Amino acid sequence: MARAKREQAKETKTGKVERHTCTLPRVPDRILPPTLNPNRARLIRMNEKKWANGTRLRYFFFDRRTDGPRGGWVGPEAQQNAVREAFDAWKELGIGLEFEEVPDREDAEIRIGFLQGDGAWSYVGRDVVDVARDPNERTMNFGWDLTTAYGRDTALHEIGHTLGFPHEHQNPYAGIEWNEPAVYDYFGGPPNNWDDETIRWNILRKIPPGEASGSEWDPDSIMHYTFPAGVIEQPAEYRNGLTPEPGLSEKDVEWARQFYPALEQQEEAELRAYESQRLAIQPGEQVNFRIRPQFTRRYRIQTFGAADTMLALFENVNGAPRFVAGDDDSGADRNARLRERLYRGGDYVLRIRLYYSHLAGETAVFMW
Ligand SMILES: [Zn+2]
Repeated sequence: MARAKREQAKETKTGKVERHTCTLPRVPDRILPPTLNPNRARLIRMNEKKWANGTRLRYFFFDRRTDGPRGGWVGPEAQQNAVREAFDAWKELGIGLEFEEVPDREDAEIRIGFLQGDGAWSYVGRDVVDVARDPNERTMNFGWDLTTAYGRDTALHEIGHTLGFPHEHQNPYAGIEWNEPAVYDYFGGPPNNWDDETIRWNILRKIPPGEASGSEWDPDSIMHYTFPAGVIEQPAEYRNGLTPEPGLSEKDVEWARQFYPALEQQEEAELRAYESQRLAIQPGEQVNFRIRPQFTRRYRIQTFGAADTMLALFENVNGAPRFVAGDDDSGADRNARLRERLYRGGDYVLRIRLYYSHLAGETAVFMW
């Protein structure tokens, strides 16, 4: 299988592999208080970019009406289809996220362009809505053909970023030692022509412990680059190059299902006003509560206890979850809270992901 991937790469006369490679937009790491204990910081990093499970992510392809300032964002049908198939492939893992194509960019969290020569990239996880806020801007671009075996992997890879997964070759547990001059030489040359800072951001920088998907390195991950001979010094077995197996690896599937388990597997207890509910979950896990308000009024919802949590409130509108409000208290001393007007007869779901709790089980949620 790996051969098919290698065949997609162009061999130059010198035998050097030339391949376009994903380049992530540079977003500053969030600064956490230096006094935070390292385990708490690690757990926050692991979860902070992930979506609330059950989120419906809507995607939009730029069209002639909404094309970029200099044009070129509109992709041919075959390219769009390759992206649709990649969304389907992630969904077919049985994850709890939903994907929906929408005709208006204002309705979409994910806005996709096909500007050739602009590389392939995506914002990572919730940066898609927290950083890329302007509906005129892309959150994802595909700069080369997606209908080849390599192109199909590119589509899976960029969607992996959108789901919150970082580059696997930057996993601090990988223990890769680079031949740095060779890395600068290879990625600074055609077809990528990256500047030094782009190379540091996408390859040489080790991502903070915890932000990596798992504590073990997976060289076959869809989130791992292909590397030619000579750029990896250690582990020695990759001195002749590293080509991940095509498609999603076993670990990719495991991580996706760990962060976004099928919703049917998750019970929804009812959260009623003035009845507290204990959060009996582990860091990284999520619990969901159904809310059916008895009165139309402004409600407060808050977590209690020394914990870092992410709250996301959705309303079921014609069977589809619509995001109402969210809060995230990770790394802060306060608790996550919402203050929202809820409507009698409405059907709401509160999703709470636990990043960290000082004492296991000593966290609760209360609505009043
Ligand atoms: Zn990437």
